Amino acid sequence: MGMPVVHDEIDRLRATARIHNSIGPSLELEEIARLSIRELVDLLDCDACAILLIEGNELRVVCEKGFSRSIGTGTLPLDLPPIQEIVHSRKSLAIGDVADSNAAGCIPHGCSIVSWLCSPIVVDEQVIGIIHVDSSRKNAFSQDDLSFVEFLAGEISVAVESSLIHAQMRDLATKDELTGCFNRRKFNLDLEGELACAASGGRHLSLLMVDIDWFKRHNDAHGHQQGDVLLHRFGQLLKTSVRPQDKVYRYGGEEFAVLLSDSPGSSALATARRLCRAVRETEFERAETSQPGGRLTASIGVATYPEDASSSTQLLAAADSALYKAKELGRNRVRTYGTGS
Ligand code: GH3
Ligand code: MG
Ligand code: MG
Repeated sequence: MGMPVVHDEIDRLRATARIHNSIGPSLELEEIARLSIRELVDLLDCDACAILLIEGNELRVVCEKGFSRSIGTGTLPLDLPPIQEIVHSRKSLAIGDVADSNAAGCIPHGCSIVSWLCSPIVVDEQVIGIIHVDSSRKNAFSQDDLSFVEFLAGEISVAVESSLIHAQMRDLATKDELTGCFNRRKFNLDLEGELACAASGGRHLSLLMVDIDWFKRHNDAHGHQQGDVLLHRFGQLLKTSVRPQDKVYRYGGEEFAVLLSDSPGSSALATARRLCRAVRETEFERAETSQPGGRLTASIGVATYPEDASSSTQLLAAADSALYKAKELGRNRVRTYGTGS
């Protein structure tokens, strides 16, 4: 069969180029997965194919054609012997007749998989997922089919690596390394953005400035390194104590900012009080020997757009001045700008 083979090869070369070219700019794993599945269905005579990623002790389908129907689920257990073999060897599996292989006991009842190709997606020398292709015919796939699936697995590996690097770069640019909170640069950008949204949508925007009380004493008593440990825990506490849509930033040193979108003054005050209490009631390592009263506390200033400010600079100044007042009045408390001096 001379001609069809040549056609096949040209088709594959074209598919290879299409996928390769799409990877650079897009960086979206699901997009690459969708594209790969489409090419697999077009070029391989298969009944089902899927791209699955390891999540905990399962393989979860990211994209598929015919797979969920034939397997009857969107996941596969990771401990199936053939999957384990792939994870450990980082090599593809090509089975021409399942009944005659270590996959025999793994195929669910009523499922007609006879030929099976499976290639690992490897990132940083670790298998993070697989490409699965199957057919109900014996010896359905050729060496070329396997090479093509392996090529796709390689391209997906590159895509995942790029998107991981992209996420790392984004984190580096927006997150504070010590606390995992967003950084001041991100705060400045978000404050402007959120304020513009609030203004155009006629909504409130509240800002909390949170400052740890007597933090210098902790540093002086236990050293800078222990101070860093406390800052990390403090940041985590704030992050886990606000709504998912609220953002926590390390503004600098031991001062944090919290942006509460769509929050009027009354609910911002309630949030600030809750945070203040959460800090007071949390056991921070070694706070008992350095902090006044044996407990770590924080002071919080609250300001709300549009009541207390009409610009980002004013909102920041208002929250700052409320924080200053809270410190002046004895710390371990919340003060709203609206309360006045
Ligand atoms: P107040 O109640 O008035 O806020 O008192 P305070 O001691 O918390 O405030 P002060 O501004 O006097 O001291 C802040 C301290 O925070 C001093 C500085 O060394 C420490 N600090 C700032 N950034 C870091 C950091 O990244 N790590 C550690 N360990 N300490 C830091
Ligand atoms: Mg302080
Ligand atoms: Mg401070």
